[in-house]
Amino acid sequence: MNIILLGPPGAGKGTQAQRLVESRGMVQLSTGDMLRETRKADTPLGRQVAQVMDAGELVSDEIVSAMIDEKLASLAPETGVIFDGYPRTEAQARSLDTILAGRGRKLGHVIELDVDEDALVERITGRYTCATCGKGYHDRFEQPGVAGVCDKCGGSEFKRRPDDNEETVRTRMAEYRAKTAPILPFYEARGIVTRVDGMAPMDDVTTAVERVLG
Ligand code: AMP
Repeated sequence: MNIILLGPPGAGKGTQAQRLVESRGMVQLSTGDMLRETRKADTPLGRQVAQVMDAGELVSDEIVSAMIDEKLASLAPETGVIFDGYPRTEAQARSLDTILAGRGRKLGHVIELDVDEDALVERITGRYTCATCGKGYHDRFEQPGVAGVCDKCGGSEFKRRPDDNEETVRTRMAEYRAKTAPILPFYEARGIVTRVDGMAPMDDVTTAVERVLG
């Protein structure tokens, strides 16, 4: 099973993908995570990617599609894949079709997480993660039980994404509206899109997503 989680930044794609990884043994392919790895390198590509991400703009279609193709090549054909944050443009959606066909894979579902944009700014600007295990927290909605100590691994270092500031978030949302939302009709024409209420409590969103996958 191959699925796409679609929705603006902060809609909960990463959280829901993680849960499917745990419950179904699927693999999460997040182009955002791959690009965060790329930007760590002190190379011309790393620096270019960092600049584009910090501005909240989109990295080139060729770069992200090549990353996805490379990752898929390393997976067993029967492994289910969750595309998180990809495709983000019509060109990427078309590339994904070609990539999947080349590997004998089919797209089963596109799940759109439907959210209220104003609430997203608060969600995103308050979020942070444990630097050791990656568990997510939020300044207002989910603090660790003991201040400064990760509930999951006991780590004491936390980090925030450099692009989770209000100005960049607004640009990322504008990019979503202009370039990503328009790919929905492309998949709607195939009858594989389901809209899920992304403003519901996280567990309810998971239940709805699981129901779609059957
Ligand atoms: P995300 O973690 O999905 O919110 O992505 C963080 C940033 O990485 C985005 O704001 C873009 O700059 C870049 N990015 C991630 N995925 C893509 C993609 N599919 N196409 C272009 N840029 C991407």
